[in-house]
Amino acid sequence: MSDETIDAGRADVAHGSGLKHLRLSRVRRDEKIKLGSGAACVAHAPSHDVLLAATATLLMKLTALQDTFHADGRRALLLVLQGRDASGKDGVIRTVYGAFNPTGVTVASFGPPTKLELEHDFLWRVHQLVPKLGMIGVFNRSHYEDVLAVRVRELAPESVWRPRYDQINAFEKLLHEQGVIVRKCMLHVSRDEQRDRLNERMDDPRKNWKFRVDDLEDRARWDPYTAAYREALERCSTKWAPW
Ligand code: AMP
Ligand code: MG
Repeated sequence: MSDETIDAGRADVAHGSGLKHLRLSRVRRDEKIKLGSGAACVAHAPSHDVLLAATATLLMKLTALQDTFHADGRRALLLVLQGRDASGKDGVIRTVYGAFNPTGVTVASFGPPTKLELEHDFLWRVHQLVPKLGMIGVFNRSHYEDVLAVRVRELAPESVWRPRYDQINAFEKLLHEQGVIVRKCMLHVSRDEQRDRLNERMDDPRKNWKFRVDDLEDRARWDPYTAAYREALERCSTKWAPW
């Protein structure tokens, strides 16, 4: 893949919240994207206080919006969260979902497939957990693991995972046509930051439970994961389900 990159445009979700320097990029299909460590750093990061205040403002807006969304009941919203270990997926879910009425939200976490799940197509377990109309659902990891972990750890041959980019695009199009709004976020953490966070998990008894040996194995495969993430973002950012 070419090293030539285009800076993805900054999304405007933070508009009006004071988060001028938040780095959120919308990926255009087949766009060459940056996934280096530099792209994980914010050049002029707002102070912690500014972030807290802006987050509180956004959470209040979300609370009101979710009520309307739930009452309206014509659409569902699926937020797909992907990211390496310690990239902050759990923290985002804790913070954002704190704003919601629990009866209107679902969270599904995807780990290695069970024997039964492996006896089905890779979307089988995922499809069942897509939120129904009126609901907001978040996927903590997702069907993208089937072109990330599966590809990098060589759990299936390329002839199996390669067609999955098109299969995923078709699946997400089906959801879109059925009224599910699909939005996907990759939380991009730098290699150094991940090292610090994993060390903290090992050293701090309150965080030991989050640490798994697999995390170090995946960290050792940093570059193959970068390539796999890049291809997933480039090939599966569609009009109907953008990254
Ligand atoms: P965590 O999110 O850190 O609790 O870990 C879940 C683990 O499950 C990660 O290492 C994922 O890569 C792995 N995982 C999730 N889905 C799949 C899948 N379809 N195939 C293989 N591994 C998966
Ligand atoms: Mg893990």
